[in-house]
Amino acid sequence: MTARIIDGKAFAAVLLESVAEHVSHLKQTQGITPGLAVVLVGEDPASQVYVRSKGQRTVEVGMHSYEYRLPADTLEAELLALIEQLNLDPSVNGILVQLPLPQHLDEALVINAIDPSKDVDGFHISNAGLLATGQRAMVPCTPLGCLMMLREYCGNLAGLHAVVIGRSNIVGKPMAQLLLNESCTVTVAHSRTRNLPDFVNGADIVVAAVGRPLFVKGEWLKTGATVIDVGINRIEQGDGTTRLVGDVDYDAAKDIAGAITPVPGGVGPMTIACLLANTVAACCRVHFLPEPA
Ligand code: NDP
Repeated sequence: MTARIIDGKAFAAVLLESVAEHVSHLKQTQGITPGLAVVLVGEDPASQVYVRSKGQRTVEVGMHSYEYRLPADTLEAELLALIEQLNLDPSVNGILVQLPLPQHLDEALVINAIDPSKDVDGFHISNAGLLATGQRAMVPCTPLGCLMMLREYCGNLAGLHAVVIGRSNIVGKPMAQLLLNESCTVTVAHSRTRNLPDFVNGADIVVAAVGRPLFVKGEWLKTGATVIDVGINRIEQGDGTTRLVGDVDYDAAKDIAGAITPVPGGVGPMTIACLLANTVAACCRVHFLPEPA
């Protein structure tokens, strides 16, 4: 059996097209252009790449992109003052503070200073609470993208057993909440889980968000399982070059799984598309307009 490849790039292209259409509709009918502000503190190379790419995509779908690049030694009070300024700015519908922040800044304090209605990353404690109680929330982009692909490939998720490996606030926990809200039976595994392969072997859906290259082995999987690989790991190859791999041993897993996301080209592209979809939704909510479906 060879798994169907879940093409995240193609999914993201469709979502981005629908976001662009909605933005154009908002401009034509309401004279409104949604805006996304991205704040980067410091010079982390990976974060710089992410911020640049978010800015480019924002402009490509017709929205305003505002970038704030602050030095690594920015004081917490200065960052909080910028967030307050963005909270009050009606042209800004979404605020994203790129993580990780430099050590001297309190990440939770900074994220919780964002107006929850502009928290397009969905990391604010209010949005986490709304999601956990099954209410309408701004949902973190990576798990939202995973859910969209799962719905497409599995149809109705109710009653399926999902194993989420990882319990971070940005991926594992919200992923588990989303699947629970879909009436899956959810197991959340983490570094202290015993007999992980046994849990994975009983799963119809496996979401791996571990941050360890090729961690989930092919033989752990149940035949026909749907596998979503969130991990992005750079590994060295024998010839001195590097390549990106996920948390799942893709080559072995694709012969056992029913469907699987590749790395790269799976979950990654959906994350930015969901960020832009969240920004349009935030803009519609603040103007009491219908949101994209
Ligand atoms: P974290 O490091 O915050 O969390 C990793 C989780 O994996 C933790 O809950 C940890 O458990 C668990 N874990 C670690 N070792 C084991 C083990 N041996 N067995 C079982 N569980 C284990 O990572 P993130 O959630 O932020 O990210 C996970 C991966 O996803 C990373 O590779 C990251 O780069 C990628 N990512 C990709 C995105 C995308 O757009 N595609 C977006 C965000 C992340 P414990 O809590 O016990 O420590």
